[in-house]
Amino acid sequence: MAIGSISTGTPSRTTASGSCAESAKELPQGVFVFTSNVDGQFQKAGFAEECIAECHGSIHHLQCLDGCHDGIWPADDFQPQLDEEACLLRSEFPLCPRCRGIARPNILMFGDWGWLAASSEAQEARLHAWLQQVRHLLVIEVGAGTNIPTVRRLGERLPGQLIRINPTEPELPPGQGISIAAGGLAALRAIDACLV
Ligand SMILES: [Zn+2]
Repeated sequence: MAIGSISTGTPSRTTASGSCAESAKELPQGVFVFTSNVDGQFQKAGFAEECIAECHGSIHHLQCLDGCHDGIWPADDFQPQLDEEACLLRSEFPLCPRCRGIARPNILMFGDWGWLAASSEAQEARLHAWLQQVRHLLVIEVGAGTNIPTVRRLGERLPGQLIRINPTEPELPPGQGISIAAGGLAALRAIDACLV
């Protein structure tokens, strides 16, 4: 089973993902997450790090803004202090350990030619290796829209069954799967209830 998700901004996402993470432990061939989210919510929900592909990077990792080297490192030591009302960072910027210049999040932004893709490419290599050996693939696509259709296209391209969960864009090509016009949490809970 693979789960694709794109950011919806809903506070229930971790809860829904947590339910999936629990259910996935019972699957003999496991689960793999492919997501364009950059917020690390799938790790927080209990999915194993080695079974997650973040195609647009992760805000929990940093790289040098000036590109002095190709390293990508965890952002664990960066604890931002924010003035949310003024939308300002009150603490120091994170720094590159090599050139001491400013570091940036290792996430792909619009028109971004400086993003280092090595981490995401390694994750996607693990995903494709898993896909090679999995049988009876089920793709559950949650909240993947058409504006940036990376996740949506992957689900349509893979062999196997596709369940598309999307409250506003549930359309599917003819004969390609099952479409559920609902929010992610409600639909995943309903599917989970049917499996008990
Ligand atoms: Zn640097």
